[in-house]
Amino acid sequence: MYIETNLSKIKQFAAIRKNENIRFRTFLKGEDGKEIDSIVHRMHKEITAQIDCAACANCCCCLVPNLSKADLNMLSGMENISPEEFQAAYCETDYGDIYLKDIPCRYLDGKKCSISENRPEQCQTFPNTNKPGFISRLWSMISYYEICPIVFNLMEMLKKELKFR
Ligand code: SF4
Ligand code: SF4
Repeated sequence: MYIETNLSKIKQFAAIRKNENIRFRTFLKGEDGKEIDSIVHRMHKEITAQIDCAACANCCCCLVPNLSKADLNMLSGMENISPEEFQAAYCETDYGDIYLKDIPCRYLDGKKCSISENRPEQCQTFPNTNKPGFISRLWSMISYYEICPIVFNLMEMLKKELKFR
């Protein structure tokens, strides 16, 4: 199984396959969610075994993690400031959700997360391809397709396995 990790190529494929991916979303909506989860979770294992996130870090360069209250407490504690001060200095809010605002992330050191052990929960679980409910997250998957090699390869493998044209 060939795994594509070249981020420029992935971006090019994403532009070319934009409409195809939207059609694939519509196609998947008609499939059995549990069966799709079972296939996706198998593919997640195969793909993540061959991708080194420490050599990629593209999500840390392109996306902003959503912070839970526990994340906010943890990060502000690490900075020796109050959660309110941390939020004012380093976060932005959107409809009540709190996000780290810097792009790339302020905790990215080269291609490594400098707070790996204490990184926000959303960073630990991204891109969530091992969670149940893949079909309920298809818009996110389409938007992550051009950013995350795990999602790109998984969507392409899924198209092949389901014989999507
Ligand atoms: S906290 Fe770490 S894992 Fe999360 S976006 Fe920043 S650098 Fe990446
Ligand atoms: S989760 Fe995806 S985008 Fe983030 S480092 Fe891993 S492969 Fe790259």
